[in-house]
Amino acid sequence: MKKKLDYKVVQEAWGDKRKLADQPVPKEQAIKVALSLYEYMFGKPWKGKTRLTSGRRYTWVRNGELVVNPDMQETYASGWRSMVHDLSHYGHAKINRKNNNHGKVHAEFEAELARYVIRKYF
Ligand SMILES: [Zn+2]
Repeated sequence: MKKKLDYKVVQEAWGDKRKLADQPVPKEQAIKVALSLYEYMFGKPWKGKTRLTSGRRYTWVRNGELVVNPDMQETYASGWRSMVHDLSHYGHAKINRKNNNHGKVHAEFEAELARYVIRKYF
């Protein structure tokens, strides 16, 4: 996370839910959560396969499969926050092919996903 100021909006979006959001996503719920985030980002449902993963693997689309890690531990986030972070990069890169790195635009996008998760699941 290079541009700290840009990402204040993400911290603010999690707000007092941040500690809760660092907990693992319950395994039995994780794929449903990832699918709902996908649909929210793209405005259409994911049609391919899905699979749970673990360890240090990002939640991402690999070989046409949506691979979901409910308990990713990153240096700056884990659990729910990590899943939102990873999927926000996936979605942002697909939607904004020319501006697909960290910065204000991505931060706003990630914050919107965080607010969505809080509304829907917290
Ligand atoms: Zn990032």
